[in-house]
Amino acid sequence: MLQLRSVKKDYITSSETVQALKGIDLSFRQKEFVSILGPSGCGKTTLLNIIGGLDHYTSGDLIIRGKSTKLYKDRDWDVYRNHRIGFIFQSYNLIPHQTVLGNVELALTIAGIDKEERRARAKRALDRVGLAGQYNKRPNQLSGGQCQRVAIARALVNDPEILLADEPTGALDTVTSKQIMDLIKEISGERLVIMVTHNPEIAEEYSSRIIRLLDGRVIEDTNPFSEKDEAEECKKLFAEDEELAKAQADPKKSKKQKKEKAKMSFFTAFMLSARNLISKKGRTTMVGIAGSIGIIGIALVLAFSAGIKGYISSMQDDMLSGNPIEIAETAYDLSALTGMMTAEEAADVLEKLPDRVYVSSLVEYLAKMNKDINTIVMENTITDEYIEYVKAMPKEYYNAMLLNYGINMSLNIYTDFKYDKESEAKNISIKNLVDIYTAILEKSEFKDYASFVTTLVPSFKQAPNNTDYLLSQYDVLSENSEIADEAHEVMLVLNSDDELSDLLLAMLGYFTQEEFEQIIHKATEDGDYKEGLYRDSFSYDELLGKTFTWYPNDTIFKEIAAPTPTGETYPSYTYLANSKDFKDSENNGGITLKVVGILNAKENVSYGCLSSGIYYTEALTNEVLKANENSKIVEFLNDEEKSAPLAATYYNIGYSYSYIPWNSEGKEEIPHFGSVGPTLTMADMMGGMGGSGETKVDLEDMKGRFIRSIGGNSLANTVHIYPISFDDKDLVTQYLDAWNADGDVTYGDVTISKEDRTDITYTDALELIISMINTMIDVVSYALIAFTSVSLVVSTVMIGIITYVSVVERIKEIGVIRSLGGRKKDVSHLFNAETFIIGLLAGLIGISVTYIISAIVNIILAPIISYSSIAALPIPQAILLVALSTGLTLISGLIPASSAAKKDPVVALRTE
Ligand code: ADP
Ligand code: MG
Repeated sequence: MLQLRSVKKDYITSSETVQALKGIDLSFRQKEFVSILGPSGCGKTTLLNIIGGLDHYTSGDLIIRGKSTKLYKDRDWDVYRNHRIGFIFQSYNLIPHQTVLGNVELALTIAGIDKEERRARAKRALDRVGLAGQYNKRPNQLSGGQCQRVAIARALVNDPEILLADEPTGALDTVTSKQIMDLIKEISGERLVIMVTHNPEIAEEYSSRIIRLLDGRVIEDTNPFSEKDEAEECKKLFAEDEELAKAQADPKKSKKQKKEKAKMSFFTAFMLSARNLISKKGRTTMVGIAGSIGIIGIALVLAFSAGIKGYISSMQDDMLSGNPIEIAETAYDLSALTGMMTAEEAADVLEKLPDRVYVSSLVEYLAKMNKDINTIVMENTITDEYIEYVKAMPKEYYNAMLLNYGINMSLNIYTDFKYDKESEAKNISIKNLVDIYTAILEKSEFKDYASFVTTLVPSFKQAPNNTDYLLSQYDVLSENSEIADEAHEVMLVLNSDDELSDLLLAMLGYFTQEEFEQIIHKATEDGDYKEGLYRDSFSYDELLGKTFTWYPNDTIFKEIAAPTPTGETYPSYTYLANSKDFKDSENNGGITLKVVGILNAKENVSYGCLSSGIYYTEALTNEVLKANENSKIVEFLNDEEKSAPLAATYYNIGYSYSYIPWNSEGKEEIPHFGSVGPTLTMADMMGGMGGSGETKVDLEDMKGRFIRSIGGNSLANTVHIYPISFDDKDLVTQYLDAWNADGDVTYGDVTISKEDRTDITYTDALELIISMINTMIDVVSYALIAFTSVSLVVSTVMIGIITYVSVVERIKEIGVIRSLGGRKKDVSHLFNAETFIIGLLAGLIGISVTYIISAIVNIILAPIISYSSIAALPIPQAILLVALSTGLTLISGLIPASSAAKKDPVVALRTE
């Protein structure tokens, strides 16, 4: 059955070579009970380990069933141990975190036998050794004798041919020893039992053969197995093996007669490790938490980055109404701007000498700046065809399209104005009122800002022509109010705090001049103002119903003859700021405008298409264009011959006013405006846009703008398009891009060839803002992830160390698994499974904590920013992070796991 031929074993240590076995020749019968006796250190354990295939001989041969093992590979030894050998150790070597049943099952688990059969066989083995009903106890709940019974059951469960026992009773008392020896004796009836003991009495009493060892040599064998008998037994065994081989070759029977193998599945390793980790709950949790810190860091960064991006995209549609696509005479190629900011300076850098001072060229600098500006600022030539093309855009692409003609309504709209409550109302133009309040401001502390402040307060603007669109963003306040949708209707839009600026209200004639002065004084001389003159609120009804009058140019501009320096006179125009100066006060073509609505933005709208102010309709714009385009002053200005030879100052189209100290008591210093006296030039009319003194102005440009401001040009110079949504914005931009593309452009029944078109650059500010913000978020996120990754690396290394500690701790278990026929691979699987579970756990903890933190942050921030998921880790990224955590931990455990696999099982089992 088993033969040792001059087996020698040397242990080579750093200091010396120990000859543990010095040439052993032994044969064993198929069934007998052999005791090996000898003093400590004589080589008994070594011999047993070599027979069991746990340790390998240095020279000689071990012959199993007549076959030499000289060419055995690791794999063959594993199979041999798993199927033919059962080991019993003095110190039981049970795995503490497994139940009794689990320990016994282990040998079958390693053999890859499925669960039910495993269970049944393990229970049978336990029943046999007298442990029926103790299946689910843990080794530390058993006595020494019971532990050894478990160990015997484990050794028997595979029904091995050879049972090897190394001092099985060495740690037991006499009574228990006897019981265990009886059990072993019983087992020996069916197989070869080789037992190492240093107790001669036990050997004498139980065994059928005693072999004495001394100093690595056999000195006595009480019942040697003769060569002849052995040859006979060998023959018999060969015949058996042959039959078995035949049976395996036969496919019908092979299912029953499984080929000998030792193969543990990764799933089994996984379950074993899971049980080990569960038995160390506290530590596992700690490791999981520690490992999760890096993941939490990265996950939080990703959560906020995704959340903020989500927040921004949730605002996109909202912001769209405040940032429509703009087509104007000058466009800013903002992509060129960003390109310029990021592009490397390509200019050749001069090799500079250390002892020279270099000259920087101003002209070169200006040239470069000019070049830069020219790449950003695009001059558009907007033509009638282009406007028609834009107007032909499919209506479903946009909510509203606003055509701007550069009209300044404040010249043509007149309102009632009083100096104080008692004085008689005058009907003067808004432009005149603006100047009055500018003058009042100029008398105040804020004189330096006066003209600037008034330009900040826009008065009349046109609203997008889409009532539904406006109602989607604005609430109509008061039941008497509505959205203005006719030419004679205007509406007031409040700011988010339900306010209208006092200056705006003053300019619209809601305040008297005296009241406004009080407001100024209130601000400058704290508290020192007349009670009751300054009012801080209006009722809706006080604001609603107020009327303004729009007059055509022919009414407000009076033709006069103006002198030139050479004494000639030219036709010229004077602006009549007060309606009482109109030629015909009855037949003046005025349109009465009435405030019909007061609006404020809906609560969830932060960027509406209307800012605070007063708005008129597209219908009014069209009326104004129709009435003013052919007005006399426009014709005059458009007539090159009449107006060309004149210098700006001779246009004399400015309105007149005089500075007369107000006569009522104590108010002498306040200017009062009439409508006679010195004239203003066109430049003054344009709001001081460089028209005075030495500043040279582009007269043609200014004239063009002035004509526009009085509604004399029906070709729009700015178009604002409000797309349906941010996502549908592309429809609009694609339509606009088509104009610049090659080939013909067709709309309606018009076709325009490429040669007849000039490129028009539109400005899509929102797109740029959003993409810039997103880029910024990305950059910040990457930086933060780089930082937090450090903690991920730290925790990975830490888990590697912990796995290594675990290897050291479980070294006995490694030995047991190997002695039961577990492959090196199985051992490394075991540790890889462990790190896999820890990594997975760390990942899951990390993700859970992130979601909890996100939820808390969201609950806290939701009311502040009115957005409920500012931290939102996307599920795919969460899964990715769990995978990352698992992967990294797995990698960190690879080295400890492979070192565990390489552990010599003999050394592992000898370790205490
Ligand atoms: P026994 O079991 O009879 O007490 P062992 O077989 O354990 O004896 O040991 C036989 C000899 O081999 C002893 O001298 C022991 O010190 C030595 N030995 C055993 N294992 C090793 C080892 N791994 N390295 C070095 N020497 C060893
Ligand atoms: Mg020993």
